[in-house]
Amino acid sequence: MRTIKIRRELLEYLLQLARSAYPNEFAGFLREKDGIFEEVLIAPNQYPGRNSVFFNHWMLPLDESIKGTVHSHPSPAFWPSEADLRFFSKFGGVHLIIPWPFTEDDVRAYTSSGEEVLIEIID
Ligand SMILES: [Zn+2]
Repeated sequence: MRTIKIRRELLEYLLQLARSAYPNEFAGFLREKDGIFEEVLIAPNQYPGRNSVFFNHWMLPLDESIKGTVHSHPSPAFWPSEADLRFFSKFGGVHLIIPWPFTEDDVRAYTSSGEEVLIEIID
């Protein structure tokens, strides 16, 4: 299985964002530096809702360091929804899903075709 790397501080920040958005979802883009996800850009124009349709409304930033996305699920569903998969396939890259209850162990990462990848946390 493929592995992606994420900085621990970033992962902890993403978990906080997921908790504070609950019961809504939050979403953002992930920036990579030297093969490690280091930063999140919060998606603009988020609105309350319990599904992922907002992905379709995103303007994808023209920034080559953006190599993935992240969003939370207000439920224990750690797998991508059909809307998620449609978005992933358009975007490419790697996609994190943070399901409720938003602990480190809940986080999953997927390729643009929806295959799970391992997450390595870098201190
Ligand atoms: Zn989703």
